[in-house]
Amino acid sequence: MPNEFLWDSCLHFFKDNLPPQQFNSWIKPLVFELKGNQITLTAPNSFTLKLVQERFLPEICKRAEDFLSGPPQFDLRVGKKSLAPTAKKTTSSTPDVAILFPKVQKSQNKLNPLLSFDSFVTGKANQLAHSAAIQVAEAPGTIYNPLFIYGGVGLGKTHLLQAIGNHIKHENSHAKICYVHATNYVSDVVRAFQTKKFDEFKQFYNSLDLLLIDDIQFIADKPGTQQEFFYTLNSLIDSHKQVVITCDTFPKEISGMTPRLTSRFSWGLTVAIEPPGLEMRVAILLQKAVLSNSPVSEDVAFFIAKHVRSNIRELEGALKRVDAYSRFHKRLITIDLAKEALKDLLASQNKQVSIENIQKTVADFYRIKISDLLSKKRTRIIARPRQIAMCLARELTPLSLPEIGIAFGDRDHTTVMYACKIVENLRNSDTAFNTDFNLLNQTLRN
Ligand code: ADP
Ligand code: MG
Repeated sequence: MPNEFLWDSCLHFFKDNLPPQQFNSWIKPLVFELKGNQITLTAPNSFTLKLVQERFLPEICKRAEDFLSGPPQFDLRVGKKSLAPTAKKTTSSTPDVAILFPKVQKSQNKLNPLLSFDSFVTGKANQLAHSAAIQVAEAPGTIYNPLFIYGGVGLGKTHLLQAIGNHIKHENSHAKICYVHATNYVSDVVRAFQTKKFDEFKQFYNSLDLLLIDDIQFIADKPGTQQEFFYTLNSLIDSHKQVVITCDTFPKEISGMTPRLTSRFSWGLTVAIEPPGLEMRVAILLQKAVLSNSPVSEDVAFFIAKHVRSNIRELEGALKRVDAYSRFHKRLITIDLAKEALKDLLASQNKQVSIENIQKTVADFYRIKISDLLSKKRTRIIARPRQIAMCLARELTPLSLPEIGIAFGDRDHTTVMYACKIVENLRNSDTAFNTDFNLLNQTLRN
């Protein structure tokens, strides 16, 4: 009976791959039932259910696909039904909570339809990446292959990656698309080794029309996985199948990555996503507020955007907090309400990005003295970091140009303007400079 075999195989797998304590807590108490292709899993409480759903369901699903004739359908429940034979025969199998899965997708193909081009706000910080993504989505495999998108956390890399997938899926429902986070790719390689199913593994990845691999930095220091990925990448690109990769840094800067792979990453197009400026943060907030059905006025959006500068994920988090606070207190969203809702966050942020903090961080980064930064010295080794620090002060503090000038050894506001211009030009022309600038920027914002 597939019933027993399937659950047995899951139990064996988890027993071998989880610490005993986890196995006993999460897997053992589950009650498994199979009818046709419908799998009912009953967990003793909603916490276990949620954990099983998030961490173990993909593996169970994978196994089920091997055993069943069609795609499995999952019904996850919280119930009191017990395996113990002494359990009373009552209606206790009635679920307290039931989450019905009409169809669990192949575990790797996790496209989230909400992450589309439509919901992606563009601005200077992500224009290049966005337009490259659109071009690739419209003509996969023909222009930039691979497309390599890099940038700091919470800046929209996963969103763009998924948007490409969703667009291609929409245009061609038969396209074989795989979105995979690099850590899951590593697990796949390991599992293929363990279960001696390497041919299936290779066949799966090589047969894709589109491979979207997220956060590739996670295969650093894993030579076996890198070798596999190198072959997959070559095979897909050779057959004009599109590959899109995201990463937290520029290819050459990923440590622990074999050079033949990093050089291959750069064969197509490498584009950065940068931290959004103020106006773009406002635009994103306004859009998110509308999408979540709790519109905010522009001045509230400006207020939040001015104070939450680190990344878009944090921006969304702040908006959710304001929204929840307003619903809880049944008050309209105003600046005052936003101030109350974000009290803790504002307190810590205000302390952090002071001009002194910027000067110290930049001086440390370039290994010069703060006093040099404020001095009249004009050698490049001092002047360049000074210009960077001025530009960061302009972006990260509410100070005016004259105030910044004064804080940098009593300089004129035109010097600050000039510094910002120089930095902007350098960021556009010099990738290494731009990477350093973004690093400083994000360090200070967090
Ligand atoms: P990353 O993968 O770079 O860490 P994500 O793509 O997960 O970042 O983005 C973090 C959050 O911010 C997501 O909820 C995403 O939808 C949202 N987001 C990021 N960039 C944009 C954008 N340009 N427009 C709208 N939402 C965005
Ligand atoms: Mg991401």
